[in-house]
Amino acid sequence: MGRKRAGNNKFLKQFNESMILDLIRTHRAISKAELSQITGLSPTAMGLITSSLAEKGYIHETGTGESTGGRRPVLLELKPNSFYTVGVDLDVSYVKIILIDITGSIIHECSFTMFEEAGAELVLQRVENSIENLLKQFCIPDEKLLGIGFSVPGMVDIGSQDIILAPNLGWENISVESYLTQLSRLPIYVENEAMASAICEEWVGCCKGLDNFVCINIRSGIGAGIFTGGRLYKGVGGSAGEVGHIVVDENGPKCGCDNYGCLETMASTHRIEERMQRLIRQGSLSSLNSCEQLDEIEIEAIVKAAREGDESAKGILMEAARYLGIAISILVNTLNPSKIVLGKDFIKYADLVINHIKSIVDRKALKAAASKVEITSSALGEKSSAMGAAIIPLKKLFGK
Ligand SMILES: [Zn+2]
Repeated sequence: MGRKRAGNNKFLKQFNESMILDLIRTHRAISKAELSQITGLSPTAMGLITSSLAEKGYIHETGTGESTGGRRPVLLELKPNSFYTVGVDLDVSYVKIILIDITGSIIHECSFTMFEEAGAELVLQRVENSIENLLKQFCIPDEKLLGIGFSVPGMVDIGSQDIILAPNLGWENISVESYLTQLSRLPIYVENEAMASAICEEWVGCCKGLDNFVCINIRSGIGAGIFTGGRLYKGVGGSAGEVGHIVVDENGPKCGCDNYGCLETMASTHRIEERMQRLIRQGSLSSLNSCEQLDEIEIEAIVKAAREGDESAKGILMEAARYLGIAISILVNTLNPSKIVLGKDFIKYADLVINHIKSIVDRKALKAAASKVEITSSALGEKSSAMGAAIIPLKKLFGK
């Protein structure tokens, strides 16, 4: 009986500490009196909790707030550079690594390119070496590192966190942890890249405080991270959000999933590049006709040409946007989100096509749902998945 009560007390203490820590985070700077008022906990209990959090090094005092009659209250905030996490975004040809602190501020970021199909062992060994060097460079001992998050362009098993399939990486049934010889001493988390972006937008980006929103990443593939009721929606096995395989044109090209006309085959970066290359081969007029290596025409060149008035380049981007609009209309009708955030390569040409997408959604989605949704591009750009991966171990500290 005594042991059970001690266990309950310990749990309650931990619960209260996480809750107070999260309130300090969301308010940025807050007094003990305000915390008592919000939580209903007595000033004595609040004093004990905040002292314990300060002793552990998570928070510190910072300046004074407005007086409500008596002495000006001392404000508490998260202590910068006290604890850290690392996020790794494993993409097809490059790896991005971000070190953040407890406040979510980026301390350091770096990236390196990998040749495609390098294989899990080679990629993860290089990641491990880079992280070990980073920890040495910033003198971060293990006890100050809360964990490492990995973002991958594929499906992640909800229980084991193994990568079930990452088709663009060519990885199947991969346990990230099993390839880490030294870093496996630390907590390791693995997440789908679009879900990681959604976690990032909710924690530090444009979806703070929102319960129902969708982040869609457009790059070599197209995937979504979905929040419903304030939680990331993963589905029964963890593969929710594969919006790249919504069929938007049954007569479209064959997709890697064996269907025809999936969104991914009509609007991914790869598809946009391929379509431009084909148009030029077929003799279409374009400022890109003068390119010597047609196979090397990339999205940046297409966007640049479109901005300079190239009708072919503009047409291809608008066509991809139209298919995105069709898929987003389906999401708007199904999920009734308050926001849809489009990220990764999309931000390179968002200003050229976003109004087109909005007009398609206005036309195709049900009025009640379409009138409630804001469609925007991500301000976090290429960083969102690596940041989101870094935020996963951080969230545990705040009881999330
Ligand atoms: Zn497909």
